[in-house]
Amino acid sequence: MFDTLSDRLTSVLQNLRGKGKLSDADIDSTAREIRIALLEADVALPVVRAFIAKVKERAKGAEVSEALNPAQQVIKIVNEELVAILGGETRRLNLAKNPPTVLMLAGLQGAGKTTLAGKLALWLKKQGHAPMLVACDLQRPNAVTQLQVVGERAGVQTFAPEPGNGVGDPVDVARRGIAEAKHSQHDIVIVDTAGRLGVDEELMRQAADIRDAVQPDETLFVVDAMIGQDAVTTAEAFRDGVGFTGVVLTKLDGDARGGAALSVREVTGQPILFASNGEKLEDFDLFHPDRMASRILGMGDMLTLIEQAEQAFDQEKAEQAAQKLGSGELTLEDFLEQMLAVRKMGPIGNLLGMLPGAGQMKDQLAQVDDRSLDRLQAIIRGMTPAERADPKIINASRRQRIAKGSGVAVREVNDLVNRFYDAKKMMQQMAGRFGFGGPGGNNR
Ligand code: GDP
Repeated sequence: MFDTLSDRLTSVLQNLRGKGKLSDADIDSTAREIRIALLEADVALPVVRAFIAKVKERAKGAEVSEALNPAQQVIKIVNEELVAILGGETRRLNLAKNPPTVLMLAGLQGAGKTTLAGKLALWLKKQGHAPMLVACDLQRPNAVTQLQVVGERAGVQTFAPEPGNGVGDPVDVARRGIAEAKHSQHDIVIVDTAGRLGVDEELMRQAADIRDAVQPDETLFVVDAMIGQDAVTTAEAFRDGVGFTGVVLTKLDGDARGGAALSVREVTGQPILFASNGEKLEDFDLFHPDRMASRILGMGDMLTLIEQAEQAFDQEKAEQAAQKLGSGELTLEDFLEQMLAVRKMGPIGNLLGMLPGAGQMKDQLAQVDDRSLDRLQAIIRGMTPAERADPKIINASRRQRIAKGSGVAVREVNDLVNRFYDAKKMMQQMAGRFGFGGPGGNNR
């Protein structure tokens, strides 16, 4: 899911890198390309329109940032707006003050409701709840048995009508199910309802009757993310016919374009609570708009990096270092400072792994570990200011002194000096590649 969209967005945003300043024309053309990418991913047109208008407005009005270059700023805006259309904060289940909490599942046949009932039950059980399933899908042959099977797999009780009683009345089953849950001290009841192949008034009425009978704390609309634009029309029909308080997206493991996932929240105004991404009961979790957005943007954790950079970087120092990097004047003193700034941002392997394009530098990155960075720091601290400023003066006797003072072998001091020259080269390359160094840097 989202692979194509992700590729497109990444390349659109990558085109911005290296630009020192974005003109309105740059922003317009970027917005146009994002629009095409979203439409191709099957995102509903009104959602695309609103999204693009917002991104454009914010990008054009963006303050010149101390910590981020223009490309990073646009990435940040696109990310924030994606998070917003996906619902903003992670929305958790509303649990009833007086248990049992009643969760009702509604959606088309094949959307994944029965499977979801099992997934949800297992997930809730792991959180210490005692859920019970109620089989109110009396329409589809085998639906009751299927629910009993997933209930067993999840290790929870399933309330089902006794076999041989004809078709039965789902509203009656629902009522009795809730009574049984109260009686047997279950704190959460999950009511599975009959799906329909298309939007069907009769079945919609049945779902509304069950809703009235059980008064759910949450009605979850279950939708297959693979059905594209139809997800939006179906969602609207269920919103008007039954009403729901939250959405569950299923089959996010599929290779569809994913527009449904991006549209449904914005179109219905109801949040996405859970995401289901596989046939196994464990393939299921809370839906996190922020994680989903960064997955769609396909930028590793570029966004985390942007955030951390905003927090950790001393802008003035970063600018000075960027200038020195560009002009080749970097000293060991600067190297030490940069290392300390980078260390503030977290383990170095994680950090470098977050950079887009870092994949190509994996071998080099694999050799960087935090302890060796700490040793490097110790060595640099063992040097005099003159040595830090001009490593060329570090002759054999100085190397011995430094090694002794910082508790390492002379070989390591030699390595450091050599690696400093290598690192200088590599940092120059990286500075150019990722546009680091802030607006004052001469690396773009
Ligand atoms: P219901 O008619 O809404 O109750 O749908 P089911 O729970 O019977 O699911 C329909 C089909 O979709 C079944 O074959 C499930 O195994 C499958 N399914 C459900 N959820 C997922 C999912 O997240 N990923 C994948 N790949 N398949 C799923």
